[in-house]
Amino acid sequence: MKLFYTDIFELPLPDKHRFPMSKYRLLRERIVSEGIAVDARKLLESAEPLCDSFHSTQHMLVIPDAATDDELHLAHNPLYVQNAVSGLLEQKEIKRIGFPWSDELIERSRRSTGATIGAARAAIVDGCAVNLAGGTHHAFPDCGEGYCVFNDSCVAARVMQEEGLISNALIVDCDVHQGNGTAAIAKNDPSLFCFSIHNQKNFPFRKMDSDFDIGLADDVEDAEYLDKLADALEKISHRFSPDIVFYVSGADPFAGDSLGRLQLSKTGLRQRDEMVLRSFREENIPVAVSMAGGYAKNVEDIVDIHFSTVQTAIRFSRK
Ligand SMILES: [Zn+2]
Repeated sequence: MKLFYTDIFELPLPDKHRFPMSKYRLLRERIVSEGIAVDARKLLESAEPLCDSFHSTQHMLVIPDAATDDELHLAHNPLYVQNAVSGLLEQKEIKRIGFPWSDELIERSRRSTGATIGAARAAIVDGCAVNLAGGTHHAFPDCGEGYCVFNDSCVAARVMQEEGLISNALIVDCDVHQGNGTAAIAKNDPSLFCFSIHNQKNFPFRKMDSDFDIGLADDVEDAEYLDKLADALEKISHRFSPDIVFYVSGADPFAGDSLGRLQLSKTGLRQRDEMVLRSFREENIPVAVSMAGGYAKNVEDIVDIHFSTVQTAIRFSRK
C-alpha cells in the first residue's frame, strides 16, 4: 500500500500556535520505526535500491506531487486560487484560515492536496491508500477556513473524474467538525455525495447541508457513535453507488481531544476505521484515506490514533 508523505507537511508556525504540526513527522517516524513502511527517500539514498525491508513490508512512503493550479480550479474559484498562491488574500481571509500566509503554507497546501490525488490514484489500483495529511474539509470554493486552504477530497474527486477514472465519489467525513467546505463545493453536484458525522455544537457554528449529516450531542461515547455510523453507512449504500470513497478519518472525536466535545476511546476510533473500510472493501470500492484533525493535549495520542488508522488501512488494502 502507498502512504503519501513529505516533510513539507510540517509547516513552521509561530510559538504557541495551537495546531500540533509535529504530528506529521512523528507519524512518519512511528511508521518507519515500527517497520510498517519503508521511506522512499531512504531507498533513493541506498546503494541497493531494492533493500530487504522493501521486500518484507511492501508498503512505501511516497512523496506527493504538488497540486497544480488547473487541478485546484476543479473545486476552487480561480480568483481565490490566484490570490492564495500569490499572497494577495486579505487579512481577514488569512485570519479565517488560521495560519499565517507564507510560500511554505501554499506549498504545504498544494502537496497535501496532491497527496490525496495520489492516494486516490493508488487506491484505484491497490484498493486503499493513505495521505498522512489532508482532510482539509473547511476549504470552500472561494475561501479557506479552519486550517484548510484547499479542499483535498473535492479536488482529488474532480481530478479523478477529469481523468475518466471515476464517475461518482462518496466523501465519508468522520472528523469531529462538520465538513462545511466539502458540502459547499459538492452542493448541486449529484456526482459527489457528502456524508459528515460530527459534533453539532462544535465549529463550524454555521453548518452547511451535506447530502447526509449526523450532528451528535456532546459527550457521545463509542457505542452510540458506532451505532449511528453503521446505520448511516447502511442508508447511504441504498442511496448512492460510489466508484471511490474519500475517508476523512479525523482523530478529534477522541475523548482526550481539546476541541472535540465527544468521548470516543482509541478502541472506538479503531472500530470506526474498521467499520468504514470494511463496508467499502467488501463492495470492492477503493478508499483513499486522509488524516484530518486531532488536537489532543498529548501529541502522542494523536499519533497513536492516526497510526492505528494507517494499520487498519493496510489490513483492508489489496497490497
Ligand atoms: Zn476537526
